[in-house]
Amino acid sequence: MKKLVVLTGAGISAESGIPTFRDSGGLWEGFRVEDVASPEGWQRNPALVLDFYNQRRKKALEVKPNRGHEILAELERHFTVVVVTQNVDNLHERAGSTHVIHLHGSLFESRSTKDERLVYPIEGWELNPGDACEQGSQLRPNIVWFGEQVPLMEVAAMHAQEADLFLVVGTSLVVYPAAGLINYVRYDTPKYVIDPNLPEVANRKFLKMIEEKASTGMEKIRQELLDLQ
Ligand code: NAD
Repeated sequence: MKKLVVLTGAGISAESGIPTFRDSGGLWEGFRVEDVASPEGWQRNPALVLDFYNQRRKKALEVKPNRGHEILAELERHFTVVVVTQNVDNLHERAGSTHVIHLHGSLFESRSTKDERLVYPIEGWELNPGDACEQGSQLRPNIVWFGEQVPLMEVAAMHAQEADLFLVVGTSLVVYPAAGLINYVRYDTPKYVIDPNLPEVANRKFLKMIEEKASTGMEKIRQELLDLQ
């Protein structure tokens, strides 16, 4: 089977009812990213940060995957699909995708503030002040914040290099290093970008831009992808 690698961003979850980030003026649900998605914000006010992610987690549990997520999952019948997502929700998994790399971490995991190797699943939607790891340190969301290393970038880049087909769905391509993933893809690999507000992409050879929402854009290119399998 050919390998289809897909980079997704907040836009693929928009039709499920999770707002994107750039579309709301650079704020994340009304909060400045410096306050809720940075190590400095965590130092200043951990209770605010925990509550912010509790609300995001609660919302993520209330919504459902949309056609965009579903079509990607269905494509596993025809391709070896690797989804590299910047999203912290779990809608790809709930739609049935089996190989999902969460570049920016997951809402549904916590990790120790003392030893980052100590990662735990979060049951339900709450992580609170006082919730501690086995060594007694406060737990934080296992999210990659602005200014932090992206540990899974290397493995994502390896998949991008191996891609026979590469698809970008719903990302403004402004957050690095994730936005640079397309640069690892072989030059002659067909590449598609689906976004109602197309991002700037250099080197447009073998690149097809589809100015659509994730659901309709995925419907449109599904047959074209199947013809290339
Ligand atoms: P972004 O908010 O910067 O960009 C969203 C992109 O999605 C835009 O290009 C926009 O035009 C497009 N879009 C809007 N509606 C769409 C639709 N229906 N279908 C397809 N595309 C649509 O998002 P980003 O590039 O992913 O970067 C934001 C960062 O914020 C990420 O790192 C992510 O961790 C975080 N974030 C995550 C979520 C989530 O997990 N669902 C939501 C908001 C923000």
